[in-house]
Amino acid sequence: MALPRRRFLSGAAAVVASPWLASGPRAADVARFSLGVASGQPRADGMVLWTRLTGGDMAPRETVRWELAADEAFARIVARGEETAEAEWAYSVHAELAGLDADRWYWYRFSALGERSRVGRTRTAPRADAAATLRFAIASCQRFDVGHYAAWRHVAGADLDLVIFLGDYIYEYATRKDPIRRMEGGEVFTLEQYRARYATHKGDPSLQAAHAAAPWLLVWDDHEVSNDYAGFRGQDLSVDMRARRAAAYRAYWEHMPFPKSARPVDADMRIVGRLDWGRLARIHLLDDRQYRDVQACPRPNQGGSNTVALAQCPALKDPARSLLGSEQEQWLADGWDLERPWNLLAQQTLMSRFAWADPAIGGGVYWTDGWDGYAPARNRLLGTVAAKKVPGVVVLGGDVHSNYVADLKADYDDPASPVVASEFCGTSITSLSLAQSRVDAAREFNPHIRYGRADQRGYVSFELDARQLRASLQVVERPADPASGVTTAARFVVDAARPGASAA
Ligand code: FE
Ligand code: CA
Repeated sequence: MALPRRRFLSGAAAVVASPWLASGPRAADVARFSLGVASGQPRADGMVLWTRLTGGDMAPRETVRWELAADEAFARIVARGEETAEAEWAYSVHAELAGLDADRWYWYRFSALGERSRVGRTRTAPRADAAATLRFAIASCQRFDVGHYAAWRHVAGADLDLVIFLGDYIYEYATRKDPIRRMEGGEVFTLEQYRARYATHKGDPSLQAAHAAAPWLLVWDDHEVSNDYAGFRGQDLSVDMRARRAAAYRAYWEHMPFPKSARPVDADMRIVGRLDWGRLARIHLLDDRQYRDVQACPRPNQGGSNTVALAQCPALKDPARSLLGSEQEQWLADGWDLERPWNLLAQQTLMSRFAWADPAIGGGVYWTDGWDGYAPARNRLLGTVAAKKVPGVVVLGGDVHSNYVADLKADYDDPASPVVASEFCGTSITSLSLAQSRVDAAREFNPHIRYGRADQRGYVSFELDARQLRASLQVVERPADPASGVTTAARFVVDAARPGASAA
C-alpha cells in the first residue's frame, strides 16, 4: 500500500503548484474524481462536461474548476470556468459549454480540493448546414454482477465521434448468486442506495475510459428505476413508485452528462430530445418508460410484463394505448427530418415484431413490455414514416440483450406491407439473455428479422455517410474477462435510398 500512496501524494503536490487549481484546505489524499469524467449532449457550439466529487470531509458547497483545451497536452486552453458542486446533488458537476468551434475535438479536465481529474476527450457536432460523417456506437444493459466491461475498453479505443447508450445503465437488483463481481447491498429503493449503485458501476475503469473517449447521448430504460416499470406502476404493486422514481431519476441525473435544465423535479425528468449532426443526420432520443400506458394483461396481482396470446388479450389491439404517450408521439411525428438523408431513432427496445407462433391458437404470443405490447402505436409511428416518406429511418435499440437486425414494416399482420425503416437492436454489454433456441424458434414466424443472436455480448459500431450506413456487430470473446478481445460477428449495410439492412 505504501508505494502507490507516496506516488499519489507526490503527484498531488505537483498539481497544487498549478495556479488555476482550487487549493482546498483539506489534504489531497482522498480520491475526489474516483468516478471519472464524462461529456454529453454535443451541440455545434458546446456540450455538457460532467464529474462528481467523491470522498468525505467536504463543505456543503465546493468549487470545481474546469479547463477545455484544443490539444491533449493542454498547451492551448480555449475555455475555463468553475461550477459549484453541492452535497444536495451528490457533488455532481454539469458544466454547460457554449461558443466553441463546430465539428472539432477538445480535451477537458476538472480540479477541486487540490486534486485534478483525468483528461477527457470530447467534441462538438458539425454545424447544421455542414457536410458531415459520423462514427458512433450503440450500447445498453451493463448489469455489473454478471460480467466484465471489456466491451467498453474497445469502445474507448474505437475512435468514435459519439456513444449512444440506450438504457439499463445500472440494475436495481440485489447481487445474484455466484456473481462475477459483487454489488453492495440488496435491491435498491432509496436515493442513497441508487447513488451507491451508480458509484459501483461507474467505478469500473473500462466504463470510465469509454466516457472519457467521446461524448455520449443517453436514454434510460427500466432498470435505472425498476424492472418493467410503466409510468408510476412497478412490477411490485406494494412499492411507492412515485418516491422510488423520484430517487432513481435524481441519482440518474446526478451521474450523467445532462444539462442543468434536465434536473428532475420530483419524479419527472425530460430525456426526450433531438440532435442534428450537420447535414447528415437527425438523432431523435425517446423515452418509452415515463409516459407509457401500463402493460396489457399483466399477471394476477402484479404489474410489469407478461407473455400472452394475442387472442386472449384484446388490449394488445387497443389503438388508445401508447408506449411513448400521445405528446411524445406527436413530437416525433412532427419532428422527422425530411431533408437530411438519415433519421436515427435512439430508443429503448426492439421495435420489430418478435412473437412466437402458437399453432394451438393460430396466432402470435407476445411479450407485453416491448413494442409488441403496443403494436397499434408502433403502426402509427411507422405509418407516419411511410406516409411522410421520411428518409433513412434507422431504429436503434437495446433492452433485450440480443443482437437483432431487422426490417421495419408498417403492419406486420399484412405480408404485403412494405419495409419502411431499418432496425439495429444491439446486444448487452454484460446482461444475460434468453436461450438461442428461443430466438431460433421465433425466426420462422418473424421473417423480417435478418439476424438474431441471444448468446453475444458487446456493442454495435456504425459508420455513416450521406450514401450508406455500415454496421459492425462487435462481440466480446470472454464476457467474464475484463481484458477480453472483441471480434466482429457480422457486418451489415443500409443504403440511404432504400430501407432495410443487408449483410456485407
Ligand atoms: Fe437490460
Ligand atoms: Ca430493459
